[in-house]
Amino acid sequence: METYYNWIDGGFAPPPSGRRMATSNPFTGEPWAEVADDPAAVDDAVRAARRAFSDGPWAAMSGVERARLMRRLGELLSRDAEVLGAAETRDNGKVIRETSAQAKGLQGSYDFFAGMADKIGGEQLPSPSPNFLVYTEREPVGVVGAIIPWNSPLALLTCKLAPLLAAGCTAVVKPSEITPVTALMLAERTAEAGFPPGVINVVNGGAEVGAAIAAHPDIDKVTFTGGGATAKHVARAAADNLTPTVMELGGKSPQIIFADADPEAVTNGLLSGIFAAGGQTCVAGSRAYIHRDIVDEVVARVVARANEMVLGDPSDPATEMGPAASDAQRDRILSMIEQARAEGANIAAGGVVDPVLGGRFVRPTVITRVTNQTTIVREEVFGPVLAVQDFEHEDEVIKLANDSDYGLAAGIWTNDIRRAHRVSRALRVGTVWINTYRNISYMAPFGGFKQSGYGRDNGLEALDSFLQTKTVWIELTGATRDPFVIG
Ligand code: NAD
Repeated sequence: METYYNWIDGGFAPPPSGRRMATSNPFTGEPWAEVADDPAAVDDAVRAARRAFSDGPWAAMSGVERARLMRRLGELLSRDAEVLGAAETRDNGKVIRETSAQAKGLQGSYDFFAGMADKIGGEQLPSPSPNFLVYTEREPVGVVGAIIPWNSPLALLTCKLAPLLAAGCTAVVKPSEITPVTALMLAERTAEAGFPPGVINVVNGGAEVGAAIAAHPDIDKVTFTGGGATAKHVARAAADNLTPTVMELGGKSPQIIFADADPEAVTNGLLSGIFAAGGQTCVAGSRAYIHRDIVDEVVARVVARANEMVLGDPSDPATEMGPAASDAQRDRILSMIEQARAEGANIAAGGVVDPVLGGRFVRPTVITRVTNQTTIVREEVFGPVLAVQDFEHEDEVIKLANDSDYGLAAGIWTNDIRRAHRVSRALRVGTVWINTYRNISYMAPFGGFKQSGYGRDNGLEALDSFLQTKTVWIELTGATRDPFVIG
């Protein structure tokens, strides 16, 4: 059993009360590490982050110097990508193929935002009278609380950390209680990269620790990725201090397949959309709308491939799908499948725990005979479950796709370029993929419409969300003014 303490003010810090919790390996079910679980540590972390933001070397650094540290951190993460990927797989059970690719990809994000750290500036504005010089400055928002889920801990942390560091902010990070370790491994490397103490702090624990961050009066912004119900708690707590929030939440993303689409490409797109990561991804393409002319053929292909999928030890590179991350997650997936059956759905593939592997391995599941009213078509499963419907007309499928509380992403499959753009424009979602699915990059803004959240990770918009504008007016002539007139 390994023990990890919080990372506060540039070093490991035992929890003030000594309260700790264990994290287990979803594949073996065995606990493998112990971490802190103490809301009182949040105060220490916020104090350290505030000090680092207000005085000391970080506050005095130029964008060029911040960028240098960020690039160095990216190099260290690439150097250690194998170790980080393996730790992530041990913590959340995602296949090593994906976790190691994600760990190798982190450097790009730090490089990209490092490239912006030295280009942040305001502008000179037109003045209502020649007496004034008016300009803006772009300043970091301050101390950021970052609350992260378990499904891609390092990647989801990085898409917040890289832009906030570029902006000059400092951070108090809370990873999920299911995957508490890799954020600490990243934090250790920030010290090796030369970041001053207090710039990045990691506090472990569950809901109580997250709630302490959301409600903290000395945190200037909260950026949250997770489920909608938790997001509402966070937004309410933050509202008491008028702390602004960014919310990256769940989805129920539609994949719309027109009759002219290539069935092989569509099959691959559907599989990668829903079974990669065992469906434990916010952009899971969990609702398929397939044109009536090809629905039988596509469903037959998807069912055949789903039945062949290799489940097993996620640290084996041959494994295509790992276990659910927790018993609770497995139970939720199975009960939602049972509910679908009770509501009249047909389970065309899967729907059960793997008969050989048992445990948390839910077989890739394809469900037909559903409508937009079936619960499994409306609610996020966060598991390997695809619900299929057919359609006839473009207008009809746009209505079906938009008939959801969520609006995170959508896939469109067609060779008709006009149709592709028309449908894309009509969809109320934050990301549209056309003849592809699940591409995400630090270069492109990512976030949701409707109950999928607000604000954006990645791209220039992410940097912007960690900056605020100060407007400066300078009187140039010494002229006296009427003190009772604005202008
Ligand atoms: P979750 O909402 O249960 O937990 C997210 C984080 O919030 C965890 O760190 C948790 O400890 C913390 N938390 C729990 N209660 C809290 C409270 N009262 N106050 C403050 N923090 C609290 O989500 P999860 O199960 O870890 O992750 C799955 C969800 O995340 C899914 O809905 C998924 O779609 C979503 N997600 C969204 C994106 C995106 O970018 N849009 C990416 C990945 C995951």
